[in-house]
Amino acid sequence: MAQVTPGIYEVQVDKNYCKACGLCVAWCPQDVLADDDEGYPFAPHLEKCINCKLCERHCPDFAIEIIAPSEVLVIEDILAEGA
Ligand code: SF4
Ligand code: SF4
Repeated sequence: MAQVTPGIYEVQVDKNYCKACGLCVAWCPQDVLADDDEGYPFAPHLEKCINCKLCERHCPDFAIEIIAPSEVLVIEDILAEGA
């Protein structure tokens, strides 16, 4: 079973698609997310994110994405090999 290291993930919200419905905030089991003044989600407790992706799966507009550092590293490795 894969181990999860909390606090290594990034949360990206695309405000072009987000309608500030609050579903992602409500579904997050770790209380990572909260609503900002306009109702858009942000991540005041990013250190508690466990990459469960419940926020992504329940967003009706595909507006929130969790980025794992390994994904960034893989892309950087591929680019470096091709350079
Ligand atoms: S991946 Fe899980 S823990 Fe992280 S912000 Fe989304 S719902 Fe919360
Ligand atoms: S569930 Fe999606 S549309 Fe709703 S607030 Fe979260 S990111 Fe925005």
